[in-house]
Amino acid sequence: MHFHILTLFPEMVCDGLHTSVIGRAADQGLLSIHAVNIRDYTENKHGKVDDYPYGGGAGMLMQAQPVYDAYKAVADKIDSGTSKVRVIYLSPQGKLFTQQMASELAKEENLIFLCGHYEGIDERVLEEIVTDEVSIGNYVLTGGELAAMVMIDAISRLVPGVLGNQDSGVAESLEGSLLEYPQYSRPEYWHGKQVPAVLMSGHHANIARWRREQSIVRTAKKRPELLEKAQLSEEERALAQRARME
Ligand code: SAM
Repeated sequence: MHFHILTLFPEMVCDGLHTSVIGRAADQGLLSIHAVNIRDYTENKHGKVDDYPYGGGAGMLMQAQPVYDAYKAVADKIDSGTSKVRVIYLSPQGKLFTQQMASELAKEENLIFLCGHYEGIDERVLEEIVTDEVSIGNYVLTGGELAAMVMIDAISRLVPGVLGNQDSGVAESLEGSLLEYPQYSRPEYWHGKQVPAVLMSGHHANIARWRREQSIVRTAKKRPELLEKAQLSEEERALAQRARME
């Protein structure tokens, strides 16, 4: 998986992503993170990339030319056969980013992220290059960099080999529309609290059943709206119903 990020602040993206799990995966060649400075492509001799919006209004707008040329430089280097590489514009106006979207995007070989700044980007270049407009939440950030980092982090952990134990990406919150069950590590007793006995039993079927029930109960209590899409047996639906009433 190759991530290409078009941004005015490449160091912010690189510093943020070249740490911990994602940084290690990049070092191992499982993925690459390539930040491109849009400013390097401006034709303005003073290095300007923004200007006032036509019709007035607050703030400045990123201009079409440097954004388009930065995009072209990246896209021309990517060999994607006949298919067009997806270009994701981070925007508060976009479709909300979800775990399901992360799984879908993790199947791509290359992804280009376009980070806006100031009041955003000239609409004409967006019309020309953007394939997906994505928001990471219903709030407005100062720029798309943090949003791109959030998306890249979530997508990277789904790339095979990135997580040490591949299973940990499967039985996880939001997979199958359920939250993850509670987890415990050593010691067995802490602050007077004991690890649930079933987890110490070594009985794998009972552990799996207990975890499934806990996932359902948690989801019912914390995020009941997720249960609408979860695949549950009648017995499990009844369990969820009881948990919601508690
Ligand atoms: N004037 C724009 C609007 O109302 O749609 C908002 C511009 S915002 C201040 C600057 C940039 O931050 C955007 O171009 C976008 O790239 C990024 N951004 C802001 N909020 C975001 C969000 N919730 N999700 C993803 N990107 C966001």
